Amino acid sequence: MTVTVDAHQPSTDLVEPRSLSGAPDEAVGQWAAEVRRLARERDAVVLAHNYQRPEIQDVADHTGDSLALSRIAGASDASTIVFCGVHFMAETAKILAPEKTVLIPDARAGCSLADSITADELREWKAEHLRPGRPEPVVVSYVNTTAAVKAETDVCCTSSNAVEVVASIDPDREVLFLPDQFLGAHVRRETGRTNLHVWAGECHVHAGINGAELTARAQADPDADLFVHPECGCATSALYLAGAGAVPAEQVHILSTGGMLDAAKNTTKSSVLVATEVGMLHQLRRANPMVDFRPVNERAACGYMKMITPGALTRALREGRDEVHVDAATAEKARASVQRMIEIGKPGGGE
Ligand code: SF4
Repeated sequence: MTVTVDAHQPSTDLVEPRSLSGAPDEAVGQWAAEVRRLARERDAVVLAHNYQRPEIQDVADHTGDSLALSRIAGASDASTIVFCGVHFMAETAKILAPEKTVLIPDARAGCSLADSITADELREWKAEHLRPGRPEPVVVSYVNTTAAVKAETDVCCTSSNAVEVVASIDPDREVLFLPDQFLGAHVRRETGRTNLHVWAGECHVHAGINGAELTARAQADPDADLFVHPECGCATSALYLAGAGAVPAEQVHILSTGGMLDAAKNTTKSSVLVATEVGMLHQLRRANPMVDFRPVNERAACGYMKMITPGALTRALREGRDEVHVDAATAEKARASVQRMIEIGKPGGGE
């Protein structure tokens, strides 16, 4: 087993593993037993996002999408939530469960998509779209945003209900959609709305899964289903391929990660190409071991998600860090935009 010390290892003598990949089963079992013991001791529930390392997913009490996990956080009896995911996700859990202690094993785990717009930039963007005598534009934010941006938002959305949320808005109102340009393009295409303005943000992982790779993979395996996350740079290509008849339309599925899991259980195909972060493959293979799930781009790994190492998780449980705080006023405004989303259709689980 490779044992290394995390960069911000606390001043204790603990030496924690960064990865248990390839470690003997016994070592993985010992680490998992220690995590479970510490979680009981701290009255903590451990939540893991679908893009986490396999060993983190396996040791967690619950694995899923960001919003689904935040709802579990709110409903849990545990006094402490350990959120194995990126920072905005832990913030969302704190917004929905303000009375609980929310820990993230490494507070440096950010998100390039959430970081692509700040609250100040959003206020400026809104100001640019104010028209005399016209109502203010409606701000729709994907859940991959910071608490401060959510507090400036009218209604949040997930990739599952983004189209529904935008379609529910008065057609005469301008809409500012952020931060993901690919999801925004998908929404604009689906709603046919011309007064929808899209922020030019992107996730570096999803943007890296491009149409050329998707086309090559689809042509090499013409019978495979395609599961495509709408944040992917290839989502447009997938729809184009279907429209052009290169891939039968019924084989292309634009799905949130939660939608992918449902589809995985029900597919009749023997192979499926998956266009999203590679951590998702662990859940898909567990959901349906009979199917050969393959990544469109095997390099599509989110470095932020992988900052949650086995060592960071045990440290979080031992030391009660890193705690996530959202000030009360921001949390109240942000909660309102998340709750409006939940009232419109089925939000699914977010990323
Ligand atoms: S995969 Fe992209 S959107 Fe998801 S957490 Fe990582 S950087 Fe953010």
